[in-house]
Amino acid sequence: MNMNIAVIPGDGIGPEVTNEAVKVLDAVADRFGHNFYYRNVLAGGCAIDAYGTALPKETLNVCKNSDAVLLGAVGGEKWDTLPGDRRPETALLGLRKELGLYANLRPAMLFSALAESCPLRPELVAGGLDILVVRELTGGIYFGKKATEKKDGVRFAYDVEEYSETEIARIARTAFEMARLRNKQVTSVDKANVLESSRLWRAVVTDISADYPDIKLNHLYVDNTAMQLVRAPKQFDVILTSNIFGDILSDEASQIAGSIGMLPSASLNAGDFGMYEPVHGSAPDIAGLNKANPMAAILSASMMLRYTFKLTKEADAIEEAVKDVLNEGYRTADLASGTDNERILGTAEAGSIIAEYIK
Ligand code: NAD
Repeated sequence: MNMNIAVIPGDGIGPEVTNEAVKVLDAVADRFGHNFYYRNVLAGGCAIDAYGTALPKETLNVCKNSDAVLLGAVGGEKWDTLPGDRRPETALLGLRKELGLYANLRPAMLFSALAESCPLRPELVAGGLDILVVRELTGGIYFGKKATEKKDGVRFAYDVEEYSETEIARIARTAFEMARLRNKQVTSVDKANVLESSRLWRAVVTDISADYPDIKLNHLYVDNTAMQLVRAPKQFDVILTSNIFGDILSDEASQIAGSIGMLPSASLNAGDFGMYEPVHGSAPDIAGLNKANPMAAILSASMMLRYTFKLTKEADAIEEAVKDVLNEGYRTADLASGTDNERILGTAEAGSIIAEYIK
């Protein structure tokens, strides 16, 4: 298979972790006989320095003409004083909007070797955890009508949560399709006891489920889901939810993974195209020190193989290599628990050893 991948290293630790993800992709290409062609482009703070804009047209064009995008992270102190609409992070919103990336996939995986880093009791996470949050990314209250106004001299503000059945149906289909690749269970999360938009959400998700008789669907209120995630997280496979509920629940779920350096993500369009990036930011406090954990970026590359290129064996090989490396006691600094059998690695060494395990 020949694949064109746009690589946006970005700022801070972004270039360090994407380097390692590319190293691991090259190991996959060698082992399985594929050709990955990379085009490095700028976005974020480095693009502001070079071109005066966080998202240059050239970057967008290269992304649009690629099969997938791998992104590191953007942002840093240097650009913190810029006005909101010129900051490095505007590149992310621009990319999501311009590339039509409405489905955000955030897996919360706990590798059993990292059970000690999980804040939940061991018996709740025995054997590891694997939850996928599917969050609607371009609609809902974050994009609804909003304003601060004055009535009789008193200020009031509002943000409107609105969803069309088209928006709900397409993200529901994403969740059901994802469940087909996993344990065939979808939990749709809403607040249908109070919100009109949630009642439509529930009705549309139920309708769409008729096309997926092989997938088990249940509905939960968001407050109950927040509780269940820490009470009995193993009950979940795919969690399907709106923009704002997904924002909050995916952060809660991510805590079970032990470190932010372990969390990958994908943002997909209506086809197979996607942008893949670690959940973490540019970590300016450790940038350039060879201390960053590259596994979130490496696992993002694995998601790219699984969801855009449908290369399941290859994606599994990356996850297995990460698992094996952790089982052998290798850790990056963020994962260190101070026990004797740990071997602490820098960013580049961690990437190299994962690549070696794949080969
Ligand atoms: P951050 O995720 O960059 O860092 C939070 C903490 O986690 C820091 O202590 C950092 O050292 C640590 N950390 C993060 N990634 C790590 C890794 N791979 N390995 C080891 N430790 C890691 O969040 P922040 O400090 O709030 O933000 C820093 C900058 O990143 C800001 O400019 C922010 O706007 C930007 N940011 C960008 C993205 C993105 O590009 N998607 C996301 C979040 C924040």
